[in-house]
Amino acid sequence: MKPKNIKRLQARAHRLHAQVIDRHTIVVQSTTGSTANHVVTIYYDNEGSIHARCTCAWAINGGVACSHVIAALETLAARRGRALSFWLSERDARRQKRRVLYLDSGRENNRVWITSRAA
Ligand SMILES: [Zn+2]
Repeated sequence: MKPKNIKRLQARAHRLHAQVIDRHTIVVQSTTGSTANHVVTIYYDNEGSIHARCTCAWAINGGVACSHVIAALETLAARRGRALSFWLSERDARRQKRRVLYLDSGRENNRVWITSRAA
């Protein structure tokens, strides 16, 4: 599963508080409960793929790029002075003429693409 409206999701993720625990672990405020958090883990590999896990229902059911993963990635990027954009197709991402990464869900047709720019 991919999110239907990635730009709206990114806007929602922007409002979530994310606390970096270490370079692979981020705790992100839940969108649904004022007292709940989700744990996101992130691993990068050399080919530009990002392996992300989250404790929310969307991720548990095979969804890629929940708002918590987006918030976690944006928070990590901001620490390096970078800002991210998210795309539902590789073609849209390549059009940006920037470095392209993707969220790997284990299925090639279920990727969300990411470009990075100076913040
Ligand atoms: Zn999540």
